[in-house]
Amino acid sequence: MTTAADRRFVRQRAGRRCEYRRMHEDDEPFFAFHLEHVIARQHGGTDELDNLAWSCHGCNESKGPNLASVDEVSGRATQRLKVGS
Ligand SMILES: [Zn+2]
Repeated sequence: MTTAADRRFVRQRAGRRCEYRRMHEDDEPFFAFHLEHVIARQHGGTDELDNLAWSCHGCNESKGPNLASVDEVSGRATQRLKVGS
């Protein structure tokens, strides 16, 4: 289970940007960002910080429990961008 402290840490580590498409929170006024599991728990992912990513609503919705997201512009699969780690 993730904690409020995990959420704050991951959000700060990501610079308040989506770790998939780099969109900044300030550029998304309508939907809150999410703390999400890079590898979903149902696929054996843990709650360790290395497996947590800050994600915009769009990436979180399109990624679901899978390991990558789909870029809406190119239609190609994207992966989490490693930032600050
Ligand atoms: Zn995103």
